Amino acid sequence: MRTVADLHTHTSACPHGHCTRAELILRARERGLAAVGISEHVQANPDGVPMSYFENMKAWLPEVYGIRLLRGAEADICDWRGKLFLQRRYMKNLDYLIASLHRHSLASADRATVTRTWCGVAEDPAVDIIGHCGRDPDRFAFEIDPVIRAFRDGGKTVEFNDSSFGREDHRKMCYLICEACGKYGVPVIIGSDAHYARSVGEAENCLRMIREVGLPESQVVNADLDRLMAWISAARAKKVALAGR
Ligand SMILES: [Zn+2]
Ligand SMILES: [Zn+2]
Repeated sequence: MRTVADLHTHTSACPHGHCTRAELILRARERGLAAVGISEHVQANPDGVPMSYFENMKAWLPEVYGIRLLRGAEADICDWRGKLFLQRRYMKNLDYLIASLHRHSLASADRATVTRTWCGVAEDPAVDIIGHCGRDPDRFAFEIDPVIRAFRDGGKTVEFNDSSFGREDHRKMCYLICEACGKYGVPVIIGSDAHYARSVGEAENCLRMIREVGLPESQVVNADLDRLMAWISAARAKKVALAGR
């Protein structure tokens, strides 16, 4: 199994990114990816981009240097009720939306609170991808079974990325979540969370985990381009419908 696209990347549009969009796309092409999605942080994060960035996204070319370019965003969950910092009116320009917990926005909470928060996010129709929820289990541990069932019921896709395997507790949490995704049939996606061009498409740790857990290839959204593009069409249609409400 391999990945054909990386939907979780950052560029120097946000202050802690260290490459241009062109560098990122060229590196994705070198790695043999067919598509790359750029998912900058939204303004609630101290390193987020301003809302005007999302307003003007509609001008992006659909293909650059022979690579499909997908328009994403990574929104911080900014309160324990699961509220996201991104107004609906900007969503019509997005192909997909990632929702993530970050320590800049929320420091930590007990297991019951984080469980409730993820179950709330699972019900938000604007969210497509649950970002790196295996990361920071010392701050954001949750009850895995009810949360993964809620993600299934809410039609969410669970993301894993290679930068979440640096610490043993993060790695363990990712494996437990991945096993639960297998148990409940929740689709997963592999992202790099690259902040430098050289990291785009990195997926070695995630692919090893998926192999070891025995998750079928058909459950990995970005292991096949047709599957990914059908998934993007569905996510995009949801955004347009929501923006019109
Ligand atoms: Zn993140
Ligand atoms: Zn990120």
